[in-house]
Amino acid sequence: MRRSLDLRHVISPGLRDLIELANSNDFDRVTEQVRHLRGCTRPVNLHGWTITTDPATKEVVRSYRSEDEPTGRLLTTCGNRRASRCPACSRVYAADTYHLIKAGLSGGKNVAESVRDHPRTFVTLTAPSFGPVHNYKTNSAGKPRPCACGETHAEDAPELGTPLDPATYDYTGAVLWNAHAGQLWARFTTYLRRALAERLRMTQKALNASLRVSFAKVAEYQKRGLVHFHAVIRFDGPDGHTSPPPAWATFDALKAAVRMARQRARLIVESDAIGERVIAWGERYKVDPISALGDGELTDAKVAGYVAKYATKSAEDSGTVDRTLMCRPCAGRGYLRGPDGFHDRCPDCDGRGQAEPIKALPVQQHVRQMIRTAWDLGHLPEFAELKLWKWAHMLGFRGHFSSKSRAYSTTLGTLRDVRRAWRLAQAEAARARAGHPATDETTLVTTSSWTYLSSGYRPGEELLAAQVRHDIAQTQRLKQEGLVPA
Ligand SMILES: [Zn+2]
Ligand SMILES: [Zn+2]
Ligand SMILES: [Zn+2]
Repeated sequence: MRRSLDLRHVISPGLRDLIELANSNDFDRVTEQVRHLRGCTRPVNLHGWTITTDPATKEVVRSYRSEDEPTGRLLTTCGNRRASRCPACSRVYAADTYHLIKAGLSGGKNVAESVRDHPRTFVTLTAPSFGPVHNYKTNSAGKPRPCACGETHAEDAPELGTPLDPATYDYTGAVLWNAHAGQLWARFTTYLRRALAERLRMTQKALNASLRVSFAKVAEYQKRGLVHFHAVIRFDGPDGHTSPPPAWATFDALKAAVRMARQRARLIVESDAIGERVIAWGERYKVDPISALGDGELTDAKVAGYVAKYATKSAEDSGTVDRTLMCRPCAGRGYLRGPDGFHDRCPDCDGRGQAEPIKALPVQQHVRQMIRTAWDLGHLPEFAELKLWKWAHMLGFRGHFSSKSRAYSTTLGTLRDVRRAWRLAQAEAARARAGHPATDETTLVTTSSWTYLSSGYRPGEELLAAQVRHDIAQTQRLKQEGLVPA
């Protein structure tokens, strides 16, 4: 008699797991959970419950337990901002950032629409030079010209941004600049207000009483491994975005103040080992007006698009790695304090302090030298607060990739709350359809308890996620070709 074919040896683990899921009590719910993740690369697996009760009647209005899921766990998106980590979640982040910046420029999402008439500028501030680097140059006709090294480089040549002479390049200066860039930006914003008061012959107090300056900035890495900043700067009246700025607060005044503040903002870093260093902005900077509409100019939508794009990029674009090199168990020190109080060599990193040896990283020589310099400076006690071991893979920069002043616009948190509220409303609508009376949300009490289980999909879910990604890409393509409404 022929026995049925044993499939276990011929099909992939993913397919086998998918068959197992298909035979579970609720395969529709399995696919729905995966679909909600919109293609997230490594969803977070949680275990726990949430119960909403009416305190007056003690009645349970809603409850959710991950135990009731067919796979016994709740999957949520990883929420990672970086495209290299999770393309799906970084798309959501980019879209949110776009709306946030756009609202700050042209209103909407609780921001007054009159902000589009306020003076607004798009500013780019860069780092100074730490030694000559290979450049892609063109002449006035747009034809490529030779670099200082004598060669004419291609536009995407890997050597662009790397030093002509690595032996004399100021790596210490470059890493310390990155490590202080966030602080230098903060100082710039202070000096900008001072420069405005000075130019308009007002006291700082009088200026602050009639004018608010709000900012939204993003950091981006240049090829040479230094961060630079793009920022939207907007003038508002004394009550923020709802009030018009005074007539004397013009774009020209803003432009002049940026120029002065860029020049004056500087930090002095003192160290026994490396002497005194001045941290200042580079000569190259840009101040452009933003127009509400227009062609070829910087429009609201264009600026919001730039900022959203920069916000999902990370240090990896400069060719570094996307993970900290610091050994976690010993925090980079290379030793652990034993029960007897003596130092024991850390077994995880074998005393190096590094989770992966710097010399073995798959990076360009220039990037490796930036990382190594950051690591070496991390040994100096005067730089302890820069946490250079933790941030060596970011080439010293530990600041936030994007930030904004409170007055600028709505927040990412608010946008997330809007989505959550929408989901809640949907759940309510479904309840109402099922014959339950609608409840008064304001008096309900919600308690919950959640614990982290792991990250990622089951092999079968991974196949479902691949299908979701395929569907999303397909819809995107159709939208671009104008076949379905955007
Ligand atoms: Zn994700
Ligand atoms: Zn060159
Ligand atoms: Zn260690």
